[in-house]
Amino acid sequence: MNYQFSKEFAQKCDDEDPMKEYRNKFLFPQVNGKAAFYFTGNSLGLQAKNAQKYLLEELEDWAKYGVEGHTDAKRAWLPYHEFFTDALAKIVGAKNTEVVAMNGLTTNLHLMMVSFFRPDSKRTKIICEAKAFPSDQYALRSQLRFHGLDPDSHLIEIQPDPETELIDEANIYKAIEENKDELALLMIGGVNYYTGQFFDIKGITKAVHDAGGMAGWDLAHAAGNVKLQLHDWDVDFAAWCGYKYLNSGPGGVSGVFVHEKHHGQTEIPRFEGWWGHDKETRFKMPDEFIPIPTAEAWQLSNAPVLSMTPLLASLELFNEAGIDALRTKADLLTGYMEFIINEVGKSENKKLKILTPKDPSKRGSQISMVVPESGKAVFDTLTKAGVIADWREPDVIRLAAVPLYNSFMDVYQFGEILKSAL
Ligand SMILES: *Cc1c(COP(=O)(O)O)cnc(C)c1O
Repeated sequence: MNYQFSKEFAQKCDDEDPMKEYRNKFLFPQVNGKAAFYFTGNSLGLQAKNAQKYLLEELEDWAKYGVEGHTDAKRAWLPYHEFFTDALAKIVGAKNTEVVAMNGLTTNLHLMMVSFFRPDSKRTKIICEAKAFPSDQYALRSQLRFHGLDPDSHLIEIQPDPETELIDEANIYKAIEENKDELALLMIGGVNYYTGQFFDIKGITKAVHDAGGMAGWDLAHAAGNVKLQLHDWDVDFAAWCGYKYLNSGPGGVSGVFVHEKHHGQTEIPRFEGWWGHDKETRFKMPDEFIPIPTAEAWQLSNAPVLSMTPLLASLELFNEAGIDALRTKADLLTGYMEFIINEVGKSENKKLKILTPKDPSKRGSQISMVVPESGKAVFDTLTKAGVIADWREPDVIRLAAVPLYNSFMDVYQFGEILKSAL
């Protein structure tokens, strides 16, 4: 698209945007009495207007029915997690049997590793990206220690290029090849939280399998953002949080994917709880655990209904809009953000660096911008002017223009504010 840094251009794009009505289905924080320019949907997605309505319905049903709400509530609590399956499966490109909404992300990564990181005398190593999100590093290192392995020698971290801060995928393939006899697991963030780099999940997963390892993906920054085909890509497992692009609300419920080839396998160990047990006999409370023959077997507890409800309101919108149409708009919007930053840099004669890959197929909705020297001051000025972005030490401003609720005008206004901030 031939972008222009003008109000008229942004207005025209918004007028022609087939997704424009979705913006009105969300609540925007107010700054200086106006809706904020909200670019942190990659950190905490906005509240869908229906979230409050649905949450109140649950509270009313609890008041009205007490325990009988498990079966009699408008949305029965007993099978509550099932209400998320269809939409989540579409979002991550899975069969319905392969996904389940449960727990928090880090909890789920651990539960997945209990099953899929099973070092033996030969295969003991894990490959991950250097500077992985700290929680992922803690999870990986503690899993290694749990198995009596020294993390310093068993965790192989792929370093980013010191200049671009991106990871050259060739180095991932090289590490897989070099460790092919000892590789137990590769676990990487599908979209890097810091740079916004989107990895070739399919290609890397295949290389891991060829080497005899398992491939798991942290999709915290990918789910609801980029197009995923987890089933076809033969991914072993994945987990993501619900509160970033999926708008489940603070600390909201996570989701997991377990490929169907791993369902019903008795030799795969699993931490078990009653919600993973066969639904027919669950309430007969037998001693023996009979796993549900789907990803639901990894559930431990009954669904935390009140904290799951907001996700329902958001997934409804994802279902309606469709991830393909959302991604189409997202590419245009992200391209516009990139264009605006470059234009402002030129006009103000400032070196603004964008870490995020230029190739749209290698990124999602996030742009990571570096303002040399004055980064923090610029960030603070943006914040005062109503731009909600995210500051990451040492010098990165992360911005995500989210197709469900951000407009081209948001991005244009951000450009004007950035210009005066510089
Ligand atoms: C956001 C994020 C987390 C957060 O973990 P929680 O368990 O949801 O608190 C973990 N890993 C990555 C890569 C993230 O982006």
